[in-house]
Amino acid sequence: MKWKTQIHNLKSYQPGKTMDDVKEQFNLDKVVKLASNENPFGCSPAVKEYLADHALSHAIYPDGYAKELREGTARFLGVEPGQLLFGNGSDEVIEIIARALLSSETNTVMAVPTFPQYKHNALVEGAEIREIPLKGDGTHDLDAMLSAIDADTSVVWLCSPNNPTGEYIRKSELVAFLDAVPQHVLVVLDEAYYEYVVAGDYYQSIDLLPHYPQLLITRTFSKAYGLAGFRVGYGVASTEVIGKLEPIREPFNNNALGQGAALAALADQAFIEKCKEENRRGLQQYYDFCEEKGLKYFPSQANFILIDFGVSGDEVFQFLMSKGYIVRSGEALGIPNTVRVTVGSAEQNDEVISRMKEFLGARLTQ
Ligand SMILES: *Cc1c(COP(=O)(O)O)cnc(C)c1O
Repeated sequence: MKWKTQIHNLKSYQPGKTMDDVKEQFNLDKVVKLASNENPFGCSPAVKEYLADHALSHAIYPDGYAKELREGTARFLGVEPGQLLFGNGSDEVIEIIARALLSSETNTVMAVPTFPQYKHNALVEGAEIREIPLKGDGTHDLDAMLSAIDADTSVVWLCSPNNPTGEYIRKSELVAFLDAVPQHVLVVLDEAYYEYVVAGDYYQSIDLLPHYPQLLITRTFSKAYGLAGFRVGYGVASTEVIGKLEPIREPFNNNALGQGAALAALADQAFIEKCKEENRRGLQQYYDFCEEKGLKYFPSQANFILIDFGVSGDEVFQFLMSKGYIVRSGEALGIPNTVRVTVGSAEQNDEVISRMKEFLGARLTQ
């Protein structure tokens, strides 16, 4: 068969072990998953009410235009409904952008390490990939990214806060970057963790849209909104950019329950505010632990933290998993000797931190 040559070496996504797998393997009663940056507090009670009231007629297609969710989100953001593109998760928005703009005749610029789906989709489309290493402090090297852009560059991917470092792009740097990027380049700004940001010099990206027609922002209901299982994310850009992307989208890409759940979740901003505060307290637990043990870490604007243990992240990961705590090894994420831990509830954080202390103690006495 005539497969695209660039897909020969692609691997399918390796999902982490499920909680049931780990329970069985290590004979544990309880397993805590702190590996995928899901919300430890679940989602707004408003979503549960919505779901209880909507025993759906499952034979009917969902609204392909996601009209109610679209209008609700547009109102919430202060943009026009035509400035939004809804995806089956923001993952799908990334895929749609790649399908529309990337080919073997183009190149695309991104940081490394960053969220892997930019590169994955660029590979499928056969585009040349230009990966620009993060700076030592875990931030994007925007000057180097700018230098990598040429006449064939189609898309630049920025992730802020960046997964897996949790670091963010400062407002002045973003504005200087956007001022310098040529008009033929789409700049995708992935703000999957936007709701958790507290930094004073973070930008309000939506306010930048009217000034930068080549900017597209992605956000998601999967993280702070606690709806990862429903798969709802979106892109926001000018009506011209969205108008080009909309025809690429599958007609019924967002299911009916997901649309309703997302709209209900959006209305409960008090829940988001509470989660944001809990998350800061949780991060502080990890900061205190790292300071006490002299471990390097990346200050985070997201709901996860990347900690340098000075030994292979796989080793830390294996030890924690055997005790019932699933985290992500930095080896797989491209930052050796680290693990990425999702900030859990205060109790979960305490528990995993005491296991980390156990790990460090066991290494010292070896
Ligand atoms: C989790 C994540 C996403 C994907 O989220 P979905 O909306 O669930 O597809 C996108 N970008 C980053 C940086 C993420 O961490």
